Amino acid sequence: MPDNNIHFKEILYEALLYSFGKTLAKYDVFSQNKIIEDVGREIILYLKEFGFDFNIQNNESDIMAIYEMFIKNGFAKNAEVVSTPKGDKVIWKGLYGARAYERLANVTENPFISCPLNACLLYEARKYNKYLKLIEMKFDIDNDIAETIEVLESGYPQASEEFSTQTLESAQLIDIADKKELALKEANKKILKLANTDHLTGIMNRRAVFEITQQLCQESTNNAIFMLDIDNFKSINDTYGHNIGDEVIQHIVKKCSQNLREKDIFARLGGEEFTIVLRDITLEKSLEVAQRIIDDIAEEPIGKHQITTTMSIGIIHNHPKKYDSFSQALNDADKALYKAKHSGKNQYRLFDE
Ligand code: GH3
Ligand code: MG
Ligand code: MG
Repeated sequence: MPDNNIHFKEILYEALLYSFGKTLAKYDVFSQNKIIEDVGREIILYLKEFGFDFNIQNNESDIMAIYEMFIKNGFAKNAEVVSTPKGDKVIWKGLYGARAYERLANVTENPFISCPLNACLLYEARKYNKYLKLIEMKFDIDNDIAETIEVLESGYPQASEEFSTQTLESAQLIDIADKKELALKEANKKILKLANTDHLTGIMNRRAVFEITQQLCQESTNNAIFMLDIDNFKSINDTYGHNIGDEVIQHIVKKCSQNLREKDIFARLGGEEFTIVLRDITLEKSLEVAQRIIDDIAEEPIGKHQITTTMSIGIIHNHPKKYDSFSQALNDADKALYKAKHSGKNQYRLFDE
């Protein structure tokens, strides 16, 4: 077990850098100067909060002041800045966390940029429209030395310099994955819609209406439920054929829809039978709607054969009566429909126990 606190602090610091470095390297973000720049700003603010500040001149000398602040506060035992034809060569000696930087060198090509000092320098340099370009980096861990050659250049690195091919490829992959997810969601939505839709008329099908009305009838609210059946439909099929019969069904659906509000529910239960749920409606108003539907259908002959047809409707209004289920309510509506059929069709009947 390690024997003292300083050792622990050092290992902890290195572990932090190492794990951050490894993670960042995985996404190849070392070359993304904007990120490092933001990190630098946060570090400077944080240090300032704890009294580690430098004398800001608001000119390029601030870059050197950052170096000095780090050296003065023991970040490195010593630092030399040597001018070379390529740029300033910076040699750090006794660099705190040097071992972590060396380990980072194993996972990325540019580990030194994760050095807190470099992050701060980059932030300061950006203020004067400059950036630090790392030319070379070496470690001599046995002697606690990190050596870098960096050039303070004008402007800002182009995207091609800032992002490696790997980063760009990763971004593309993320983009493709996002689009795929979106496409999948849209496909699911379409499938769900298809599963709930009657293919002939485009309105809700039997399965869907039973699903969404599960709760509806258990409350004693002002809802009316219609059960509708086209009169003598069999003879239309027999006279004109099944296809014309289908057209009649489509026409009738259009006529019914024109009398409904956004919040009402309209579904084809099968064949030429339908249900309508009128939400929040008085009994009186719901009977008016039923009559309008009946009149609209009866008064307009359909298609090239000018077929006239009529509709019968059985109605329940579930106030104050409650039902345990939609099918129970529909059952009563069906009884009322039966009465309408037996009273001469082309009319509605209200269920009355
Ligand atoms: P009623 O007035 O008593 O309702 O008489 P009806 O002739 O309408 O009798 P019923 O409701 O029993 O007949 C329904 C007919 O609807 C029987 C079937 O051939 C026809 N049918 C069912 N589904 C479809 C469909 O999708 N398209 C067409 N064209 N006909 C259908
Ligand atoms: Mg029928
Ligand atoms: Mg019928």
